[in-house]
Amino acid sequence: MKILNETFGGDILTGEKTKKIEINNKWCKGCGICYNLCPKGVYDKDEFGKVVIKNSEACTGCRICEDHCPDYCIKIGG
Ligand code: SF4
Ligand code: SF4
Repeated sequence: MKILNETFGGDILTGEKTKKIEINNKWCKGCGICYNLCPKGVYDKDEFGKVVIKNSEACTGCRICEDHCPDYCIKIGG
């Protein structure tokens, strides 16, 4: 797995068995929707309530997080 900081402005994780998860930390307001809805426990929160990725390998690519983030912070790739 590689952790990169690239064009989307936040954390980008990629890996052969990992769905690509891109999070724009700057836009995240820490509402908690994504980490409360994710059925696989992929996310956690930092001390400010902003989402962090703790278990990217568990992501199934269901896109619940992407669809429900009110600030369009999350992109799930293939
Ligand atoms: S749903 Fe969006 S704004 Fe809310 S905590 Fe998750 S990434 Fe941040
Ligand atoms: S795509 Fe689904 S499994 Fe992956 S982080 Fe988002 S809600 Fe969780």
